[in-house]
Amino acid sequence: MAKRIGMLGGTFDPVHIGHLRSALEVAENYALDQLLLIPNAQPPHRNAPQVSAQQRLEMVQLAVAGVDLLSVDDRELRRDKPSWSIDTLLSLRAELDAQDQLLLILGWDAFCGLPSWHRWEELLEHCHILVLQRPDADIEAPQVLRDLVAAKSVNDPQTLLGPSGQIAFVWQTPLAISATQIRHLLATQRCVRYLVPDTVFQYIYTHQLYQE
Ligand code: ATP
Repeated sequence: MAKRIGMLGGTFDPVHIGHLRSALEVAENYALDQLLLIPNAQPPHRNAPQVSAQQRLEMVQLAVAGVDLLSVDDRELRRDKPSWSIDTLLSLRAELDAQDQLLLILGWDAFCGLPSWHRWEELLEHCHILVLQRPDADIEAPQVLRDLVAAKSVNDPQTLLGPSGQIAFVWQTPLAISATQIRHLLATQRCVRYLVPDTVFQYIYTHQLYQE
């Protein structure tokens, strides 16, 4: 029986319940065998994160501890190069059987930025793309992506066929939460409890992260 593996990459600076609740709902609703959260090492599209890669990784590890369907994959942090998603996809693909489904999970904002990604046109050769709604992101997809969606999307993520090549939009509990908002709250001495798991909340305060 073919496996179904999801991957959600991100800076996770820090990880928050918008990431985690989306990941868990996708994993449960679309019968994933495993969903991997993959922290970026050197995000190619953004400024350097405010805390170390090791600290971002530790927060994601704390956040998924004890949740069987979610795990952390640190391969991008072990690589001494920018975190190109195409490289991550290829290395995950190499570990799977040809018929296994690999689902690249992207929030709407990340999906809209896809055409700036390294070798982005090859991504669908190796995975399907699942797009999460992002209620806090008011962005329009460029025409090239609208054309791609018209050509490759299926209405129901349950009907994705084969190991790769299609796009589906998923429904998950909309949570208008971003890491930017959390960093801003912390920098202005406000409390981020309930926006991140309690273990991450403790970690942030123990290590005094994001408190300018
Ligand atoms: P920042 O505010 O620093 O840009 P972020 O909150 O967008 O961070 P990332 O680590 O950049 O978090 O996001 C990783 C992935 O998770 C991206 O695909 C992003 O679109 C998605 N994502 C982040 N927050 C949410 C959310 N609240 N709901 C759905 N998807 C989300």
